[in-house]
Amino acid sequence: MVISPKVRGFICTNAHPQGCAANVKAQIAHIQSKAPYEPKGQYAAPKNVLVIGASTGYGLASRIAATFGYGAATLGVFFEKPPTERKTGSAGYYNSAAFEQAASEAGIYAKSINGDAFSTACKEQVIEQIKADMGKIDLVVYSLASPRRQDPVTGEVYSSTLKPIGDSYTAKNLNTDTQEVGEVTVEPASDEEIATTVKVMGGEDWELWINALSEAGVLNEGVQTVAYTYLGEKLTWPIYGHATIGKAKEDLDRAANALRDQLASLKGSAHVGVLKAVVTQASSAIPVMPLYLSILFKVMQEEGTHEGCIEQLQRLFTECLYTDAPRIDEQQRFRVDELELSPEIQAKVEAIWPQVTSENLNDLSDFALYQAEFLRLFGFGVEGVDYDADTTPLVEANFL
Ligand code: NAD
Repeated sequence: MVISPKVRGFICTNAHPQGCAANVKAQIAHIQSKAPYEPKGQYAAPKNVLVIGASTGYGLASRIAATFGYGAATLGVFFEKPPTERKTGSAGYYNSAAFEQAASEAGIYAKSINGDAFSTACKEQVIEQIKADMGKIDLVVYSLASPRRQDPVTGEVYSSTLKPIGDSYTAKNLNTDTQEVGEVTVEPASDEEIATTVKVMGGEDWELWINALSEAGVLNEGVQTVAYTYLGEKLTWPIYGHATIGKAKEDLDRAANALRDQLASLKGSAHVGVLKAVVTQASSAIPVMPLYLSILFKVMQEEGTHEGCIEQLQRLFTECLYTDAPRIDEQQRFRVDELELSPEIQAKVEAIWPQVTSENLNDLSDFALYQAEFLRLFGFGVEGVDYDADTTPLVEANFL
């Protein structure tokens, strides 16, 4: 079949296998272009890495950085849809198949578990796999983004919401389908919605993972763990930093402190890693973000500081995780969002923000780049891929 994008609102319901593979290759090439990777400081190069949420966005970039920067064996966990003869698989499925193929060609161990990371069964399966194949883990990356979580003990299903706290919030918003700049009003979250968002996107599951791995004795001395967050600035605070998702992310700070104490006996550490805003399946669903990103892209490109997931992860590994002088703030969070949050960049974005209209969208922002990056997430619009070719959606993968 000929595979063309099927976009519905802020999601694309199909993916292109060769396009996804080409994306993975490009990310590997970026990591390799920055070699050699020589860890300085207290932590040696990671030999075995577990990435939870490894198939797309920041988790995939983490896995690629670990393997192609440091030669690390990886176990990846994700929740992705396999293809059938008539329907494509999800992008994360194709990304992971391509990643495993590339790792195998490089002679580096890579296995993946396609399952619900929030469940106890998945944690047990991961531990069995580590015991059987890897021994002990040196780095645990926690990079889940999910709208839902089933509590592993009670079975209750919790949903996260993207809502302000306190008052309703009206802001400029871009409809990415119609390219119209209008307004969006988001009603404030109830206390219950705040609590359920913390339950899904807070630190509880990260702690459950580290507890389970620790009890099973599969964490190495000097193990590090990192979970990702976004802080942002004035324009995004009402819908992100100071909103329901921000509350959940504050809970990550609490969890990081607890995990740091817990891992001290292993001479290990736990940190929240603050990353910049990028286009991913998770961020495209957040109101305000597409317009903010379109303007940010224009400003950061002009400054020559534009970065995507892989550039961020390359810096997180070299400037935070495996260095003697980590970029770290007073709350002990790793920071690689400093280019986005620089006062000059933020001032420029804030100056453009009130001026943008549907008519001048393409002059004042780089919506074209936003759109191209969105489609790329699903393997579309990637250079060198023949999109007119008859393509089978079936790609073999040996996920567990
Ligand atoms: P993403 O949607 O690209 O990736 C989410 C990953 O989680 C995928 O691998 C998916 O398969 C996996 N996943 C979701 N539910 C799962 C489940 N039940 N079981 C197993 N795997 C599951 O998201 P992303 O934007 O890369 O986000 C990753 C982290 O980075 C999140 O914590 C997010 O808040 C943070 N972050 C994102 C941005 C941004 O702009 N996108 C910025 C800073 C921080």
